[in-house]
Amino acid sequence: MKKVCIDPGHGGRDPGATGPAGTQEKTINLAVAKAVATLLSEAVEVKLTRTTDVALGPDRDNDLRARADIANKYGADCFVSIHANAATAKTAHGFEVYTTPGVTRADALATCIINRLQKISPTLALRADWSDGDADKEKPFTVLMKTKMPAVLVELGFISNANEERLLRTPGFQSVCAYAIAQGIADFLGVRLHSGEPAPAPAATPAAAGTPIGGEPQATVAQAQTWARSRGATSHFVELAELYWELAPAVGVRPEVAYAQFGKETAFGRFGGVINESYCNPCGLKTTIGGSNSDPDAHQRFPNWRAGIHAHLDHLALYAGLPGYPKALSQTPDPRHFVYLAGNARTVEALGGRWAPSPEYGLSLVKDYLTPLLATVAVARLDETVRLVGDGLSLEDVLTALGGLGQVRWDKEARTVTIERG
Ligand SMILES: [Zn+2]
Repeated sequence: MKKVCIDPGHGGRDPGATGPAGTQEKTINLAVAKAVATLLSEAVEVKLTRTTDVALGPDRDNDLRARADIANKYGADCFVSIHANAATAKTAHGFEVYTTPGVTRADALATCIINRLQKISPTLALRADWSDGDADKEKPFTVLMKTKMPAVLVELGFISNANEERLLRTPGFQSVCAYAIAQGIADFLGVRLHSGEPAPAPAATPAAAGTPIGGEPQATVAQAQTWARSRGATSHFVELAELYWELAPAVGVRPEVAYAQFGKETAFGRFGGVINESYCNPCGLKTTIGGSNSDPDAHQRFPNWRAGIHAHLDHLALYAGLPGYPKALSQTPDPRHFVYLAGNARTVEALGGRWAPSPEYGLSLVKDYLTPLLATVAVARLDETVRLVGDGLSLEDVLTALGGLGQVRWDKEARTVTIERG
């Protein structure tokens, strides 16, 4: 098995750089490094130079040498030191990957990580030095000079820039960076990481094989509300259908798919699980950090239903890989808008085993919720007009609807319907 040494920069009495809001670099470095190690551990052996907030030597030089020593003694195949940047210019931004000067075996490792970071976070700018033919920058950092294996130092972004400081503190952004770095290392070592890998290309599973998540609405609000009432939904659940039909078109998700899922996830607004209505969370979305299904604190609390429903729709759109997704993290209320989820489930059926652990989850959503919703006949009365909407309308449905206008008599022989207004 290949061995990787990950080095969370600074620690203990040395906080590294400090951001305008007081964020200490050592904390960000450790969080990202631990996440990288977790992701890599399924395919390689991993050692962290530190796992807690400690310095590794009595002074700066000894601290840096100790990190290189750990990697050398471990016999690592590669070494990645993780840092966040700082500059006096408050506008400096973007990420950098360093190697030692000259052509080295680390150049390929740097390129793998840069490619993954660029692919996964197009919003983060690459600060490249192309003068020597590749994008990495070069500096004789002690940890890079003293390590014997290919070694790079990643600067995740500028903690001295207020915007990037905020981003670096976001667990979602930390996960995205960690994922990219781990994938870059895996690419360099020629190993494959499976967790969070996107599902096979959609070409292999044509959309016709399932129920699409994206697309135009195929049911009206009135249909959805009639269906919800027939399932004993709370009046608030019935009301919230309007928000789904208002917000879904801009996202590109079919509102009836999301609303059916809302019904499944919350027992039609009755909740009764680990969270209640005050979370304004229609689909059990967890926080960025996540946690146990039975832990209420692992679940996201939204400020209002508009935000919660928007997050639900964005999360579905992300899974479905709809145009415009993934969004920039600052553009969505979805706390788990992880890039690696993009296109993970293009049909409702494919949500099984992905959105929820049960492989039957998506099938049940279609069979027990969406199909009955679509088959619901809704009656909307508009002054003198009666409009019936729904698949499989029967004569009985028509007569029941007309009955609302008065006394209906159907004479089959004469082939007439008479309505006496009540
Ligand atoms: Zn640093």
